Amino acid sequence: MPIAPHTPAPHGLSEELFARARRVIPAGVNSPVRAFGSVGGTPPYIASAAGALLTDVDGREYVDLVGSWGPMILGHAHPQVVEAVQQAASRGLSFGAPQPQEVALAEEVIARIGPVEKIRMVNSGTEAVLSALRVARGATGRDVIVKFAGNYHGHVDALLAEAGSGLATFGLPGSAGVTAGTAQDTVVLPYGDRAAVQELFAARGSEIAAVIVEAAPCNMGVVPPSSEDGLGFTPFLHDLAHEHGALLITDEVLTGFRATRTGYYGIDGPGGTDGTQQNWAPDLMTFGKVIGGGLPVGAFGGRADLMDLLAPLGPVYQAGTLSGNPLATAAGLATFAGLDEAAYQQLGATSQALQDLVSEALNAASVPHVIQRAGTLFSVFFRSEPVRNYADAQEQDTDAFGRFFHTMLEGGVHLPPSAFEAWFVSTAHTDQILDRIAEVLPSAARAAAAR
Ligand SMILES: *Cc1c(COP(=O)(O)O)cnc(C)c1O
Repeated sequence: MPIAPHTPAPHGLSEELFARARRVIPAGVNSPVRAFGSVGGTPPYIASAAGALLTDVDGREYVDLVGSWGPMILGHAHPQVVEAVQQAASRGLSFGAPQPQEVALAEEVIARIGPVEKIRMVNSGTEAVLSALRVARGATGRDVIVKFAGNYHGHVDALLAEAGSGLATFGLPGSAGVTAGTAQDTVVLPYGDRAAVQELFAARGSEIAAVIVEAAPCNMGVVPPSSEDGLGFTPFLHDLAHEHGALLITDEVLTGFRATRTGYYGIDGPGGTDGTQQNWAPDLMTFGKVIGGGLPVGAFGGRADLMDLLAPLGPVYQAGTLSGNPLATAAGLATFAGLDEAAYQQLGATSQALQDLVSEALNAASVPHVIQRAGTLFSVFFRSEPVRNYADAQEQDTDAFGRFFHTMLEGGVHLPPSAFEAWFVSTAHTDQILDRIAEVLPSAARAAAAR
């Protein structure tokens, strides 16, 4: 990706830390997007965070619109969440044995999300996805997984594949270190392309273990699933997969307990708000981010008969030394305790108000853009046409985004450092916080417009 021409002022201690980090950590970071590769410059090193604000090691304060990529839905260092973790810590950090709060967290998820009859905790979204794939393959005795371009499911080998030349062909490794054999069991299709999915199932339906899809893709920017003739894309996948004896896995690692109280399933599931009347349920679902309230947690769950295939009941092996960890489950439970219907209403209103502010500023500076949303999630694409798939998402003015991003950062607003990411608000993003963002937006919009 091109480096934005704008070079931000050096930030003393962050610069020093980044230089030290690059000597001992690849690119200086423990997850690639943090390196600012697509926007250029030095990432601020964060010393502390509270509510909607981050403070970096140089004492500069930022309004945070990343929220650790989703988990900090109640804001940073929320008193009840911190207190719950501190109390849990004082009782012991990890037991390697069952503990009460993992039961309560499983019950909470099951109470919210109809299709989840049983659930297992893991330590990341990636681990949730790879475990769900193993269950699907174990249940069907089949190998092939279907995924969609621009959908991210963590760094699972089988899902780091890219589309082959023909639609119904095998995938190619999408990363060095992924074997051709692994990628061959993955087929990558354009998101939202119903004809391509139908063609694939007609040709190879009996080989397909599962289709995995983001409940609403948010990792190429937010691209909500389309509805055709009253049938949403995800329930369409469900029906087709089931006709061929395959399973549907919806990845709600990002949208779960964030898009709505019940994730994106609250929008396109039965009784959802997208206006369709479809009655369907994914066979398996994956969770992460919000479910851990900021600690390393993922989970996968779904139909009891599938989940009971897991060891020690069944033949599908899966385990974890720290899974169901007492601190992590305490943080998750305390976060859920703050996420009632009123919290989601507030998140929705804040998200809408921020979208309006961004649109107003970009319109005033005549910057082409589209805002797309999935419940309380949204993203801003720097192009004039709607984005329906990954090819569309790649057709944006990423240089304009880079200029916009750095002006916002200099003005004290910490956006996701890539044009391909959702923006995250929290219940701590009050009107005063929105005012601070509104002050910076006009100059950032003018920077985006300048060439
Ligand atoms: C973040 C994410 C993952 C991976 O979760 P990690 O905890 O980063 O491993 C998987 N799927 C989706 C949709 C995500 O947004």
